[in-house]
Amino acid sequence: MIKITLPDGAVKEVEKGTTPFSIAQSISQGLARNVISAKFNDTTVETTTPLTEDGRLTLYTWNDDEGKKAFWHSSSHVVAQALEELYPDIKLTIGPAIENGFYYDVDFGDETISEKDFPKIEKKALEIARGKHDYKMRSVSKADALSYYKEQGNEYKVELIENLDDGTITFCDHSTFTDLCRGGHIPNTGIIKAIKLLSVAGAYWRGDENNTQLTRVYGISFPKQKELTEYLQLLEEAKKRDHRKLGKELELFTFSQKVGQGLPLWLPNGAALRERLEQFLKKAQKKAGYEMVVTPHIGQKELYVTSGHYAKYGEDSFQPIHTPKEDEEFLLKPMNCPHHCEIYNSQPFSYKDLPKRYAEFGTVYRYEQSGELHGLTRVRGFTQDDAHIFCTTEQLNDEFKNVIDLTLYVLNSLGFEDFTAQVSVRDLNNPEKYIGNTDDWEKAEQAIIDAAEEKGLNYVIESGEAAFYGPKLDFMIKDALGRNWQLGTIQVDYNLPKRFDLTYKGSDNELHRPVMIHRAPFGSMERFVALLLEHTGGNFPLWLIPTQAIVLPVSEKHEKYAEKVLNSLENHEIRALIDNRNETVGKKIREAELKKIPFMIIVGEQEEESASLSVRRHGGEDLGSLSVDTFSDLVTTEINSTLKSF
Ligand SMILES: [Zn+2]
Ligand SMILES: [Zn+2]
Repeated sequence: MIKITLPDGAVKEVEKGTTPFSIAQSISQGLARNVISAKFNDTTVETTTPLTEDGRLTLYTWNDDEGKKAFWHSSSHVVAQALEELYPDIKLTIGPAIENGFYYDVDFGDETISEKDFPKIEKKALEIARGKHDYKMRSVSKADALSYYKEQGNEYKVELIENLDDGTITFCDHSTFTDLCRGGHIPNTGIIKAIKLLSVAGAYWRGDENNTQLTRVYGISFPKQKELTEYLQLLEEAKKRDHRKLGKELELFTFSQKVGQGLPLWLPNGAALRERLEQFLKKAQKKAGYEMVVTPHIGQKELYVTSGHYAKYGEDSFQPIHTPKEDEEFLLKPMNCPHHCEIYNSQPFSYKDLPKRYAEFGTVYRYEQSGELHGLTRVRGFTQDDAHIFCTTEQLNDEFKNVIDLTLYVLNSLGFEDFTAQVSVRDLNNPEKYIGNTDDWEKAEQAIIDAAEEKGLNYVIESGEAAFYGPKLDFMIKDALGRNWQLGTIQVDYNLPKRFDLTYKGSDNELHRPVMIHRAPFGSMERFVALLLEHTGGNFPLWLIPTQAIVLPVSEKHEKYAEKVLNSLENHEIRALIDNRNETVGKKIREAELKKIPFMIIVGEQEEESASLSVRRHGGEDLGSLSVDTFSDLVTTEINSTLKSF
């Protein structure tokens, strides 16, 4: 008999050789129907793998990430079989599951495939899936594995096998198809009810551009056709909301090859939006006791040697800037923290002066490979809404609560309602991984947990996720399409105060080391605007949107009145434009809709006579005829409903 411990702590005594599937059966028939994968003592196993020793067992269904991973990886075998049947001369390489679906890297030889070929591949793959073939793992000796693939002339699999140890090599068979594989499959192909190929792309063998270029076939699969349909709708919506597309349409930002990759150029609309976001945060920060500072875009190499950034990132990042003077080296600023430490160091502080809270919209530069760059979310130069708080350990709890308040204020004002928090603490089994003393760590972790508790956050504690220099709290935001974004990290740091020898004079007249907190509610202006664009689809909250209203005169005759209306809107502090081009009102409305302007104000004969406005909302709702005052009240009410004061 062996002892199997389940995640809830329950222990089952079963006969040696029992499979995860029969353990699922002994729990409930429902679980047995749905279990598709399992983990035994940190190793992924099949539901049919006989368990031969005591251990911990987790069973997964489609609803678990691990279950999806097994499902998608198993689907990649089916697609590989379909490809092999349709294109007998291809060479298969690797086919892992990814965050959404799977891919298979294939050497198609002289053949090329495109989206046009997808339907026939999908059809073939589904035919295979419907055969309900079991996935069967078997061990193979290194010699047999090598000769199997040498015979096929597949140099890729041969290379993979050559790097494996004899005795650890397994093949997976289903139907007539065999693949080199470590395992982690669903029970049989019949569970796969829907398969869709999504795209093809070039990919170098082993990610090395000196190697052969393979074709990467991306796909996704589901246990129900309905789930595929929903996923494709979501993809369609995500495409419409792609911040790169919206950024162009709303004239917010652009990129220039001449200026350089990954270096965004903010257009007037975007700059105004950004400015408004900055003012919004600055105002709240001022109330929260922050002081603004300004620091340069470069710093002496020595500064980053002191901070430790040079040792960590120096080689892989922008290289030092040399001046005509010998041995003088500067680096583009990768982080604002070292500069702020030196600001702290510029004068002596006593415990009565703390906390000090230095804030800066600081632009930093980090080298990213060109393949990694993506719109505003992965760039080489970006501005952080950075701040560093220097305080005593006793003040940590209050400071954390203040930062949580500020972050929640930011999220609420910008329409993010669905979020959770994660508190990252030490791995208590590996204390040598962390700097600073145990007492401080315990206090800091407790301060964060208490703050999260007192603020009523929906949070989880993740042990082992803390940085080596301190625990932290992250907000995980779910956007309108259900995607997760990490935002608003609040990080405790014991490392930099030590490296920069920061001190304050305590009530005992002795020098003590302050604790440092790094925090940035937006993260960076670039990434935040991208997130906001994709979350709102460009329909920003009214207080933030660049143009709140557009005045559309019906004809040239009404231009004068339109100008008058524009003037009085401006007097009511409503950001408005006028469209007096010689175009039909219908066309002007359509264009204003595309520009996501919240209010369209149509003025013609009737409006001029009654000194009123005909107001139409973005999306089509007709608000009827209003006076400028009533309209202005409506705008103010709507702004006040989202933008509360801090
Ligand atoms: Zn496999
Ligand atoms: Zn920092």
